[in-house]
Amino acid sequence: MAILPIRKIGDPVLRSRSKEVVKVTDNTKELITNMIDSMEAAEGLGLAAPQIGVLQRVIVVNIEGDLTVLINPILIKEDGEVIAEEGCLSVPNKTGIVKRPKQAIIEGLNLDGNKVKYELDGLKARAFLHEIDHLNGVLFVDKAVEIKEELVE
Ligand code: ZN
Repeated sequence: MAILPIRKIGDPVLRSRSKEVVKVTDNTKELITNMIDSMEAAEGLGLAAPQIGVLQRVIVVNIEGDLTVLINPILIKEDGEVIAEEGCLSVPNKTGIVKRPKQAIIEGLNLDGNKVKYELDGLKARAFLHEIDHLNGVLFVDKAVEIKEELVE
């Protein structure tokens, strides 16, 4: 296990498209452990593999103590619309107002390589979709209708 530095905006790895995981191997599991450790160390709600420099389609989300790992996540269905503020460990000291679906159905593989499906709502839907964006080289600042700078003291 390892806590790795979180890549920051301006790093080209954050703008690259991640590759599908062909097979869930011990390397994938090690990557996921490092992602969880790095996310927790940085006190984030979620992390995508490119944020620690690995271009593979893997995300982790931790909301209200509910930790989810998803490999090759795909958005199957979305519904509704919510405009809310969000931030990103890769974009320090900024938040943005971003429009996202209220509900989302997302499929992918779990740690055992089995297919799983999540019906998500509200903050969870937002977090998963934010992380999936990372796998396509998209950051919230690309979508935000308004960016807020936080003053660092
Ligand atoms: Zn992010």
